[in-house]
Amino acid sequence: MYEFAVTPAVTQIRRRGVEISEVAVGSLGAELELEPGDRIMRINGRVVRDYLDFRFQTGGETEFVIDVRKHDGEDWELNIERNEAEDFGLSFEQIVPRQCANECLFCFCKGNPETARPSLFVRDEDVRLSFLYGNYTTLTSITEDEMRRVIEQRLSPQYVSVHATDLDVRAYLLGVDKKRADITAKMQRLMNAGIEIHAQVVLCPEINDGEILHRTIYDLANFHPRVRSVAIVPLGLTRYLNDPRLTPVTPEFCRRTIEEVALMQRALRKRLGTTFAFLGDEIYLRAGRDAPSRKHYGDYPQIEDGIGMVRNFANQFDALMRRLTRRSVSEARPLGRAPFGTIMTGTLFAPVLRKLIDRTGFHRCAPSSQGRVCNYSARGFERRRTGNAGRNAL
Ligand code: SF4
Repeated sequence: MYEFAVTPAVTQIRRRGVEISEVAVGSLGAELELEPGDRIMRINGRVVRDYLDFRFQTGGETEFVIDVRKHDGEDWELNIERNEAEDFGLSFEQIVPRQCANECLFCFCKGNPETARPSLFVRDEDVRLSFLYGNYTTLTSITEDEMRRVIEQRLSPQYVSVHATDLDVRAYLLGVDKKRADITAKMQRLMNAGIEIHAQVVLCPEINDGEILHRTIYDLANFHPRVRSVAIVPLGLTRYLNDPRLTPVTPEFCRRTIEEVALMQRALRKRLGTTFAFLGDEIYLRAGRDAPSRKHYGDYPQIEDGIGMVRNFANQFDALMRRLTRRSVSEARPLGRAPFGTIMTGTLFAPVLRKLIDRTGFHRCAPSSQGRVCNYSARGFERRRTGNAGRNAL
């Protein structure tokens, strides 16, 4: 039986099989008279736990026996032959995330106000979501079944929060004992099976910075290319997360970190041909430094973790402006009335955005704004065009 979670505290009560949420009209699923609410229980005798299982067990196969529990409780057995490329046309219920068994010092859930929406308190630790969406797991409580599944279904890459390769420091940060914190053998097993890993370090001043960070980066670099990259993102404190064991990230700390890590990045580029260890955009912004060049980020391996988003946005903005200025004057329709828009963005990103919009020549910031909300009006171009920049910023 699939061991879905490790402790009673994190166990989800799951119904067996996976529920169909939609059936496309005219699809194979519709021809089989499958309906929303039906559950796929088994395929060729193998249990189906979620839609990843369904995809895995049907991928590349042409003949199946599918056990279905209809929404009215009736059990069906479907014998199917299909063309290899033929899709079932089925959509399924979302995966319910399995939750972690850690007590991280810096857990983002602790930084939420109590009234925040419930989904912000989900402490997901799920190798399936790691593969599908790049969510990080710590691997501290991964079960043998989950491990086998990652390997069998090739759920690669996996995104792993390492934080520190020093075991004492890692255990302290995660709030677990050293035995549980030690994931060396698990990572080795995944890598031996060909699973790629992107690592993450949540950088906490005076805990896993300096020498500890240096060692973490180089220990992980020894596993390149199986460990493909390391994202170093700063601790985020809020008025609700004010644990006295945590030291706030300051602009000075960010500047020092940039300098220290830049030396390692240079050495690693020479040795591995990639920057490998990337600092979160927030570190550059808080230090008052420009984001590194496009080349620094390569193929943006951790953009979803806020690594290179600023550079990517600025480059896309520049490309858009170049396209607009290449348009002939006659194409640029004069407007009867200047369009007006409001862009809302984060405090840290506001100065970057303002600089970009200033370059367009049609920015006009409301005098009362303090870098949080700016108004701009566009003259000379149709609104649809200028509106793109605003939509990207939201
Ligand atoms: S692993 Fe993630 S969700 Fe779990 S306690 Fe740590 S930060 Fe929070």
